[in-house]
Amino acid sequence: MLCRSLILVVFACVAQVIHAADAVSHPGGVLRVPVGVAASPPPEVRFQGNRVLVHPLGTAWEAVVGIPLDTSPGWESLEIRTADGVSRALPFTIEAYDYPVQHLRVPNKRHVNPTPEDLARYAREREAQDIAKRAWREALPTRVALDLPVSGRRSSAFGLRRTFNGEPRNPHSGLDLAVPVGTPVRAPAAGRVTLSGDYFFNGRTLFIDHGQGLISMLCHLSKFDVALGDEVAAGAVIARSGATGRATGPHVHWSVFLNGTSVDPEALVARP
Ligand SMILES: [Zn+2]
Repeated sequence: MLCRSLILVVFACVAQVIHAADAVSHPGGVLRVPVGVAASPPPEVRFQGNRVLVHPLGTAWEAVVGIPLDTSPGWESLEIRTADGVSRALPFTIEAYDYPVQHLRVPNKRHVNPTPEDLARYAREREAQDIAKRAWREALPTRVALDLPVSGRRSSAFGLRRTFNGEPRNPHSGLDLAVPVGTPVRAPAAGRVTLSGDYFFNGRTLFIDHGQGLISMLCHLSKFDVALGDEVAAGAVIARSGATGRATGPHVHWSVFLNGTSVDPEALVARP
């Protein structure tokens, strides 16, 4: 009897490992994995304690999970709770991923070595932006695929490990698209304007909340075409591009957040 139980346990473990091996992502990437059948109510999914986007895809509910850039390779797991309160863990694999390194020379000393007053301003501004990045609305995104906010040269990729005048900085948390000042900037998907401001590092910035933690942040803008609380359609002109804040030249910095963490926007860009 003991032997039979042991065999069952071993079988269950093997089955779980085989299932988990299907689900793979990397730091800064997006994990997409089925978490239930669409005939049932959607389960509530969490990763590292944060709610995760769950949307219908064909006959399944699919979780769309942002993997933080500082996640170590190895095993992680999603917490899944069905509508009738049954919980389970869904393990998955994080594989190592090497992002390139870039050394930049930046002429504006103040933005490289901010004064104590600048840092105090940054701390105040960061709080509001952190809240906007981590916001949760139950409304489902109209679609999970996003469009580029402008069509321009990709001047800096997500995850790039940069140094400014030899000093290491945090990895690049978005995608830079180089366009002339005044270029119309479009909503990557439908959503609500949840924050707008003029910030020390990010310059004129808009947050568009697409629903269920899928959020776009657009920075270094010159002018806003929308106001706080506006509902915008996919492709609507929301701003004009610029070079405000810490910008080495005119471009749009686009960050995308899922479950409170920035991910590579390219992972969600709709391909023709
Ligand atoms: Zn950028």
